[in-house]
Amino acid sequence: MTARRISILGATGSVGESTLDVISRHPDRFSVGALTARAQWQKLAQLCRAHRPEIAVLVNPQAALQLERALAHDGVRTRVLAGEAGLVEAATASGIDTVVAAIVGAAGLRSTVAAAGAGKRILLANKEALVIGGAVFMRAVEAGRALLLPIDSEHNAIFQCLPQSYARKPAQAGVRRILLTASGGPLRTRPLAELPSVTADEACAHPNWVMGRKISVDSATMMNKGLEMIEAHWLFGVPRERIEIVVHPESVVHSLVDYVDGSVLAQLGHPDMRTPIAQALAFPDRIDTGVAPLDLVRLATLNFSAPDHERFPCLALAAAALDAGGTAPAILNAANEVAVAAFLDSRIRYTDIAPACTEALARLPARPVDSLDDAIGADAEARAIARSWLNLPAAA
Ligand code: NAD
Ligand code: MG
Repeated sequence: MTARRISILGATGSVGESTLDVISRHPDRFSVGALTARAQWQKLAQLCRAHRPEIAVLVNPQAALQLERALAHDGVRTRVLAGEAGLVEAATASGIDTVVAAIVGAAGLRSTVAAAGAGKRILLANKEALVIGGAVFMRAVEAGRALLLPIDSEHNAIFQCLPQSYARKPAQAGVRRILLTASGGPLRTRPLAELPSVTADEACAHPNWVMGRKISVDSATMMNKGLEMIEAHWLFGVPRERIEIVVHPESVVHSLVDYVDGSVLAQLGHPDMRTPIAQALAFPDRIDTGVAPLDLVRLATLNFSAPDHERFPCLALAAAALDAGGTAPAILNAANEVAVAAFLDSRIRYTDIAPACTEALARLPARPVDSLDDAIGADAEARAIARSWLNLPAAA
């Protein structure tokens, strides 16, 4: 068996780390071809020493120079590239067959779509890319004959519950509904009156998952579930009316597919990203991940409830953006990225996040998305509106 050569876009993050853990357990199956990060050169240097990729990329040019020096000093023969062009190279290089798209936010859009155009096996964590550029992204997957495998845990669960021949046509496959589970995050039971004073660390203290800070805040506001609804729409070709969100605080049932004959298939497991990552890395094989077996008797009880729309206004915003179509999801995503970054910097309150998104959606009409530039243009406009509405400095 020839080992799959893997490129990890966003290697220094939480998904990147889980991916490297799985890869390290199977040196016969996988090898590391490229690793990328934004600016953390010390951490990337350490990963290059351990995994010896052909290519390492840092978006920040100064950090790339530091990395180049550090690797030369240690005799590591990794080629260091900088900027977005470097990311695209890591996503499309001919020696690479699998790309793990694990950059956070809109910053991952171009490289992920480039990987699709180049016909790679793409393990998609970067849901924002699909939210912003859904139609263009899916066209690139088709044109490049890429294989798109979701590793967002819910979408990976749905993928596992659908037939292997599934071709984004729910009616043809007898699919009635997709049920997306949501933990409800760390603020699910916090008195509403306390929400304005929630701190960044409180919002990031997810009860079940350890993740990067942006997606952790999105889980607290449930914007994450809103973005995942849009992600599910593009991945599985399901209209919004057929996607239902169910709050399930234990995060053991990762999502379900409801079929017309009354069968409901679910995928269960511990909340550990190594499971969906390994499923997609080895697909259609199954490999060991080090994740402990699930003990249902010990769990004993699983809870399910409907989402509280007063507490989580971001859910309705995402539904409205999906209904409006075109650039609306890109507008929502961009305003949310600006607001979440400002909240993490303690510049705005937790309860300012949803209104900033509402404002951007209200001020900008949804236009059709025919190219990546259409989506990126809407993203830039929405960022400017969100910044000005939140009284933030113009550039970030
Ligand atoms: P993280 O913040 O831990 O890591 C982000 C990675 O992206 C880092 O390697 C960072 O260097 C890189 N990065 C950040 N900004 C960049 C930029 N401007 N240009 C290039 N690279 C940049 O994030 P994470 O939690 O690993 O999440 C990554 C993606 O996966 C997100 O889209 C998130 O929604 C999705 N996801 C994460 C999890 C999880 O368990 N962490 C689960 C499902 C989906
Ligand atoms: Mg998820």
